Amino acid sequence: MMEALAIHGGPPVRNSILAYGRQSIDDSDIKKVTEVLKGEYLTTGPYVKMFENQIAAYAGAKYAVAVSSGTGALHMACSAAGIGKGDQVIVSPMTFAASANCVLYCGGIPVFADIDPLTLNIDPGDIERKITPETKAVLPVDFAGQSADMDEINKIARKHNLVVIEDAAHALGASYKGRKIGRNADLTAFSFHPVKPITTGEGGAVATDNEHYYRHMLRFRTHGVSRETEISLQTGSSWYYEQQFLGYNYRLTDLQSALGSSQLEKIDFFISRRRYLAQLYSAAFSPMDELIAPRETDYSVSGWHIYVIRLKLPLLNADRNTVFAALRAENIGVNLHYIPVYLHPYYKRLGYEAGLCPQAEQVYREIITLPLFPSMSDEDARDVIKAVKKVINYYRRQN
Ligand SMILES: *Cc1c(COP(=O)(O)O)cnc(C)c1O
Repeated sequence: MMEALAIHGGPPVRNSILAYGRQSIDDSDIKKVTEVLKGEYLTTGPYVKMFENQIAAYAGAKYAVAVSSGTGALHMACSAAGIGKGDQVIVSPMTFAASANCVLYCGGIPVFADIDPLTLNIDPGDIERKITPETKAVLPVDFAGQSADMDEINKIARKHNLVVIEDAAHALGASYKGRKIGRNADLTAFSFHPVKPITTGEGGAVATDNEHYYRHMLRFRTHGVSRETEISLQTGSSWYYEQQFLGYNYRLTDLQSALGSSQLEKIDFFISRRRYLAQLYSAAFSPMDELIAPRETDYSVSGWHIYVIRLKLPLLNADRNTVFAALRAENIGVNLHYIPVYLHPYYKRLGYEAGLCPQAEQVYREIITLPLFPSMSDEDARDVIKAVKKVINYYRRQN
């Protein structure tokens, strides 16, 4: 803090740190979870199915299958899509590693296509360039809650017979050309981690209209086991079940499902609050030459999961890390989304090399994620604006 005072002039904008994201839990959430704790089933009970029906209805899909994490949801979606050994899946590099790890879990090969620097979403043109005879699926990510260009992606997928798996971990409640996220891909994966649009602690779900995928996923999340087999139907043996393939225990509990149902009732409020705060930011930042504020495309309504600014480095006497550290010194809990996945040491060991996606790598040098979550106050947002202006003023290059 002494250093902040010395370097940037004046005491830090805030006395205590403001996180970049956090859950919003109220008494109605606590009441719903307590009901389950007092009841019969903690897991595999009625709340799971109820939550799944609500997610499906909200996202505009026929079916939803809930699982224990967003990562599990992506793994399950890849399995449903039939990804296997040697299959290539085209993925955005500007994402959390789970978006590509799920392909590796199935024995497949993630192939990274570059991003559009305006939206930070996967560039459909580069998807087409990366298609080979081994390509089986494409896995776009709705970065920051703004939908990828799904019509373009679906068009390419139909032409090349690919499955489309949408990583909508950021985007429950957002929409694309008036259609809710959840009905624009063959399989759409959501996350309910505490910083995501709604939370179940840990949790996730996949939405689909495809009954075959749906049936596969119900078994996948519970060891590959089915009770609806020919033998049990013929003999009426209610004890009989079959393990039909190697599945997992990825079940979401009833406690979590009840919390999810309660959270889902408030999602539109959560998103409108995020949108309002984002507008406060954008009103302050859009006129500033030294940074690029995020923009909604005309075809999407973003869920505003995160607010990512890009620094115009030639106008500053500092690199991203310096600006990042200066904002932390002001007690603004900035974060970074994302390190391009293939630059992680594990991916490097698999043979991926820097230079693969030049746009993603350039953007990576410029980005900072500012705090944004529904329970943030207007005053918190004003602190963030003040701190960004203070730091940018300090590092502005003079001509
Ligand atoms: C959070 C997230 C995931 C993983 O979800 P978990 O629920 O944390 O397992 C996957 N993809 C993206 C883009 C995410 O932000």
